[in-house]
Amino acid sequence: MILDKETLRANLDKVIWNIEQARITVSEHHIVKLVIVAKYTEIENIKTLYELGQRAFGENQVQQLKERMHALEDLPLEWHMIGRLQKNKINNLIDLRPTLMQSLDSLDLAHEMQKKLTAKEAKMHCLLQINAAKEESKAGVMPEHAIDTYLQIKESCPNINLKGVMTIGAHTDDTKAIQQSFETTHSIYERLEKEGATICSMGMSGDYELAIKCGSNMVRIGSALFQG
Ligand SMILES: *Cc1c(COP(=O)(O)O)cnc(C)c1O
Repeated sequence: MILDKETLRANLDKVIWNIEQARITVSEHHIVKLVIVAKYTEIENIKTLYELGQRAFGENQVQQLKERMHALEDLPLEWHMIGRLQKNKINNLIDLRPTLMQSLDSLDLAHEMQKKLTAKEAKMHCLLQINAAKEESKAGVMPEHAIDTYLQIKESCPNINLKGVMTIGAHTDDTKAIQQSFETTHSIYERLEKEGATICSMGMSGDYELAIKCGSNMVRIGSALFQG
């Protein structure tokens, strides 16, 4: 559905206002970056959001990321990969030079990426995805292995520039459980700050205010922005 500019402006204003309310409860110095997840929406809406001042967008599939980056290459946008990466798509992703690959979800994938990055003499900024609620259906490293895995990637993958962690909040209506998954991830992030981590990416349309209160400094929001 293509939305008119006033609708998108109202949705964006509301989200930004909510982010502001949440981040101020943490500290007036706590800055939160908004990445708009465009996977559900049309290219026209991305263009309109750009005109409204938004620069960072995320996609969860390499193919769609590629199409959109090409279609919008004249705009100074930054693009984030946020979905599961199949090994046979690594080269395609490297060629796209995304701003941030948020879904690095195993040591194995890191090693595979390292090989291909070396061959292409390229580097990539990445976040380590954590399966904080230990859900079967979700990708990511288990929280108890997160620090070790992070350090191993740092040591063995010089072409991967790890910038922090990403998680998807627990998939439940139980607010306490969602909060716990964010707190788990944030405590891992805090321990990695001395290793240079600066990004704690957590919070989507249904839970971003809670995520920010738990210390998130990057939210990935889709559906809340594309309501007609
Ligand atoms: C789709 C998606 C989002 C955005 O989801 P909404 O609930 O629509 O805001 C955020 N992060 C990831 C990893 C996603 O796949």
